[in-house]
Amino acid sequence: MNNNITPSITLVGGGLVGSLSALLLAQRGFQVDVYERRADMRLADISAGRSINLALANRGIFPLQQAGLMEQVKPLLTEMKGRMIHDTNGDCHLHPYGQKAHEVIYSVSRGDLNKLCLDAAEATGKVRFFFNQRCTKVDFATNTIELEHSETGSISETTFTRILGTDGSASAVREAIHQNTSNYHKIEPLGHSYKELTIPPSTNGDFQMEPYALHIWPRGGFMVIALPNRDKSFTVTLFMPNTGPVSFESIDSESKVKSFFEKEFPDAIPLLPNLMEEFFQNPTGHLATVRCSPWHYKDRALLLGDAAHAIVPFHGQGMNCGFEDAWELIEQIDKHENDWEAIFKDTAEARFDNGNAIADMAIENYIEMRDSVNDPVFILKKSLSFE
Ligand code: FAD
Repeated sequence: MNNNITPSITLVGGGLVGSLSALLLAQRGFQVDVYERRADMRLADISAGRSINLALANRGIFPLQQAGLMEQVKPLLTEMKGRMIHDTNGDCHLHPYGQKAHEVIYSVSRGDLNKLCLDAAEATGKVRFFFNQRCTKVDFATNTIELEHSETGSISETTFTRILGTDGSASAVREAIHQNTSNYHKIEPLGHSYKELTIPPSTNGDFQMEPYALHIWPRGGFMVIALPNRDKSFTVTLFMPNTGPVSFESIDSESKVKSFFEKEFPDAIPLLPNLMEEFFQNPTGHLATVRCSPWHYKDRALLLGDAAHAIVPFHGQGMNCGFEDAWELIEQIDKHENDWEAIFKDTAEARFDNGNAIADMAIENYIEMRDSVNDPVFILKKSLSFE
């Protein structure tokens, strides 16, 4: 790789948080190079990764507004006014997120939002994306990163001045920071996994269920949720234990899937024409919480988003919090100008407690969503609150 220009800031990972961070940094005048393991999703027909759509809430909207992107994001959104609870007998009840019209969250396609951020970052003329480049090593002694080309396997090196780890929950930058620090690094598996399924549009091209809601089938130890898409389909996610009597391990044949859905989710069966195919062909995604410290290394490196604090998805806040991290970094740059140790340290400090708090709340919310969302006391308590 020929790098004649020494970039001011190097990012590893061009996902949601990486692409928005690159844009925000470019808007502050930085030259940014982003190394992304995967192919360019704008050109290749690749899945956007885990979870096809996501809930975008106020925490994530604010940084998008600061980047001047919200007008372009709006057409990508489907409003969700509350949780639509599906009982086993087929009855449905809507629990609004709030009493006022603006108290809603939004469903957005991960791929569409990521592509928008990539385009906007590139349009600044200050951001270069290098795709198919997997960071395999970060060396703080020589300020180099090692990159492996995802298709050819060829290895190259490039230098950096400052590096941001926006490379998600299995972050290579986090690994390097912790090799150089007294580290605290814990990956807590949830013991539950997820499987994505699809409710396609009806034959007349409409939504098959109420579109303006986050649908939940709470069933105690497991649950199904569904978020609307702009093409009038729903992305459905089954969350269930890995092992045990009702689990991904035990439900291992078509007849078991059939009787499981007939017993627990009878109203969903006619809406899921490709249930068997999707259940057995789609990957089972594992869920874990990543807690680590420190999030930065001197004036050289900082972790943002899932690289610093991957959380389970039951508050729909992982991306939202990652976007907040990116905006916090910009605020610290504005405050400390060129004192990069202070910028990185204060960004990490400002976000650390929030990261741990939302990680705990996300686990608690899983228990609430699958166990108690149908409990009348819970409904009363939650009727005025957001996701
Ligand atoms: P990622 O999205 O993981 O992006 C990391 C990027 O880095 C990827 O593009 C990857 O290819 C690249 N990369 C990784 N390793 C390397 C490497 N070594 N070298 C180069 N590139 C690398 N959040 C919400 O806010 N709302 C939701 O509703 C929501 N729902 C979710 C549902 C599910 C089922 C799951 C699993 C998560 C959900 N989340 C949700 C969480 C959200 O997906 C993450 O918090 C968000 O994707 C984090 O963005 P990120 O850019 O930090 O990491």
